Amino acid sequence: PDAFLALNMTRPYNFSAGPAAIPSEVLEQAAAEMLDWHDSGMGVMEMSHRGKEFLSIYETAEADLRELLAVPPHFKILFMQGGGLAENAIVPLNLSRAGVVDFVVTGSWSQKSQKEARKYASEVNIVATGEDTGFTTVPDPASWTVSRGASYLHLCSNETIHGTEFHQLPDLKALGSDAPLVIDFSSHVASRPVDWSRVGLAFGGAQKNLGPAGLTLVIVREDLLGHALPACPSAFDYKIVADNQSMYNTPPTWGIYIAGLTFQWLKRQTEGGLTGVAAMEQRNIAKATLLYNAIDQSQLYVNKVAANCRSRMNIPFFLRDESRNDAFLAGAKERGLLQLKGHKSVGGMRASIYNAMPLAGVQALVDYMREFEQKHA
Ligand code: PMP
Repeated sequence: PDAFLALNMTRPYNFSAGPAAIPSEVLEQAAAEMLDWHDSGMGVMEMSHRGKEFLSIYETAEADLRELLAVPPHFKILFMQGGGLAENAIVPLNLSRAGVVDFVVTGSWSQKSQKEARKYASEVNIVATGEDTGFTTVPDPASWTVSRGASYLHLCSNETIHGTEFHQLPDLKALGSDAPLVIDFSSHVASRPVDWSRVGLAFGGAQKNLGPAGLTLVIVREDLLGHALPACPSAFDYKIVADNQSMYNTPPTWGIYIAGLTFQWLKRQTEGGLTGVAAMEQRNIAKATLLYNAIDQSQLYVNKVAANCRSRMNIPFFLRDESRNDAFLAGAKERGLLQLKGHKSVGGMRASIYNAMPLAGVQALVDYMREFEQKHA
């Protein structure tokens, strides 16, 4: 703690992949309101979800999110529970119609998704995979072989572990598919605008870019509602959830509240004359460019992902001399650079630089990486 205070930091920089850093302003506001929200005499966790206090929190959060992500009126915003992995089942339960579904596999998360869908769909077609390159590439949509009459096509628009990102969503119509596109945008939601003209459904856990674990965001085109399989649990039937404004069961009220504060924080952000998500995108490009350049220019660090699909949010990198991994992590921690250890399935390091990570945090990491490299050259 003394070391990072000396570096003029009030808190360490937290590079966790999720649950991840939340803007300090959001946490400070939540702390100030913890015992008594807006003179109601209650903390948010203690309120009925049907009371006027919580309803005002809910309605503001939904409206702010709709504005931030420019969600068109014919899409419903659902605040659910269960996380991304539950959605791997909930999506086919609602959308597969027990028919054929298409998957693009670009890393661990879409791999998990397609496995789960096999329980509900009659057939799962892998229309493209990056597995042959160790998930360091995203196959060009021009090479995909889409099915005829698929109920939907699923892809993970940002693979948190392998660090690949779709910088453009595919135009399925142009590929000869009428299927709605389903995207798992857990780890880059609100980091960049979404092209809703190409999306049927987007889902994501909140614990990376929006707030605490326990809240799952689903944004779904209205015409896709109402086709759930008979076995679909009522609490996971998108139509029932939508018809009840996400209050068929008790929604994750605390998560919605913190996400709502994060939406207000996002709306206040400005960058080069832009605000909100457009501003975040500019900042995220600057942060990612700084870190990738530092990696590419070094002799010690390496990132293996192809340049056209490198994630702006999750940047895995390896030390060419892996015997230095522990020393690297220990030195980072001393400087207030936390949670840089890579995912256990791939090893190495990973810097997750979500919206809450300022450019100064990435600069501090890059400075440390240079110093460590010089010291060990
Ligand atoms: N999809 C992606 C892209 C993720 O990064 C994660 C979590 N890291 C998940 C799904 C799974 O989310 P959860 O653990 O909330 O179910």
